[in-house]
Amino acid sequence: MRAVRVVPNPARRHSSGMAHGAGRPPPIDMLFYAPDNHCRMKQVKPRHPAAFNVGLLKRKLDELYRTYDRSFLNSDPLLFPHRYADARDAEVVAFLASALAYGSVVTIKKDVERVLAVLGPRPHDAVLSRDPEALLAELAGFKHRFTTARHLTWLLHVIKQGLAEFGSLEKLFLAGYRPDAPNTKEALTAFVEQLVGYAPSPVYPGPRAVRSDGALFLLPSPKTGAACKRLNLFLRWVVRRDDDLDLGLWKSVSPSKLVIPLDTHVARISRAIGLTTRRSSDWKAAEDITNTLSALDPADPLKYDFAITRLGILGDCVADARNSKCDDCALADICVRVREP
Ligand code: SF4
Repeated sequence: MRAVRVVPNPARRHSSGMAHGAGRPPPIDMLFYAPDNHCRMKQVKPRHPAAFNVGLLKRKLDELYRTYDRSFLNSDPLLFPHRYADARDAEVVAFLASALAYGSVVTIKKDVERVLAVLGPRPHDAVLSRDPEALLAELAGFKHRFTTARHLTWLLHVIKQGLAEFGSLEKLFLAGYRPDAPNTKEALTAFVEQLVGYAPSPVYPGPRAVRSDGALFLLPSPKTGAACKRLNLFLRWVVRRDDDLDLGLWKSVSPSKLVIPLDTHVARISRAIGLTTRRSSDWKAAEDITNTLSALDPADPLKYDFAITRLGILGDCVADARNSKCDDCALADICVRVREP
């Protein structure tokens, strides 16, 4: 287990109404206090303290997990694959919805709805049977921030070839998956290379055109060092199965091997509560945060991901801590960015 210390803010009152140091001594293992506001944090270099208070971190994250449960599914594109009873449809829709999971939730939902309307009630069959040129015409005018109709048609075209060769995206992924690997990095790299390696024609004349048009934004590779948030989000959705939040479609992949889908919200909050001290938001940072979470639940380290991201997505925790809802936040006792009243 890695050594990390998470300690409560001494100025925060606990549920008992009693602050540490005001009436009772702090537990013996709480020797280093986190700075108590954003200004002080700027003067203190984030540190990996010397010990790890797993119990405190787990209690607080469990509280957050109970707060942001499945009833918040409407704030997440994960709601789209949940609509489909057939696992083949849910898998394809999960892949498409996660690929477009960047930007505001309102825009994501609107744009995913548009794509699903084009694919009809059986998205798996539609991807396998539709002609790419017809799809491109049906998606004419589609734009989701950087993603154009041509990018999306290319993605659907390579998924089609993957489904035709392997039968499912799961089987394609399993071709590069080793259960004894430390995490999914190697398998995800092989998965992306397989898809990117399929013929881009007739959507693009060749691989160079795919790259120069920016379509690879939809299929980044971990080997570049990028966090690959949307691909890790897809894996979380299809692999996690111990609650009714994620889909649990891929039984052959262990949830213990997943890597956290790292975006700006997760990175900021993870630094604030001591899950990592890395300043970058790349693949290594995602691994670092995941390793810390593994200390709380080795079998299911991404258990808390949905709840952590709700803080950012719902606007409860924003970049300027002064505008965050720290008073209502389950993490306030362990957060270095907490805004005091
Ligand atoms: S809302 Fe406040 S206490 Fe909660 S994680 Fe954000 S900055 Fe920390």
